[in-house]
Amino acid sequence: MGKESRRRFFKTAVKLLGAFFLGQSCSKRCPEESLGMDYLCSSCQKLGFPMAVGTCSACGRMTSSIGLKLCNSCGCKLDQCQSCLKSL
Ligand SMILES: [Zn+2]
Ligand SMILES: [Zn+2]
Repeated sequence: MGKESRRRFFKTAVKLLGAFFLGQSCSKRCPEESLGMDYLCSSCQKLGFPMAVGTCSACGRMTSSIGLKLCNSCGCKLDQCQSCLKSL
């Protein structure tokens, strides 16, 4: 590996690493899948939800139940209960 290509490689690696850490800090890892009810507050976890698909008010995708206002993915991203929107 020549001096120039090594420097270029290093630059690319730094750029990639920077993008990786930036992405990590401003958006946490959330499921892309909209179906599911993994993000419910403790009181909503006790409720039963009708098994009929609804629509997420944030992204417009399908939710697991019409009783949910947010999909699984948005509940995670917004840190809110998918049902009552209380912050988790
Ligand atoms: Zn959503
Ligand atoms: Zn709730």
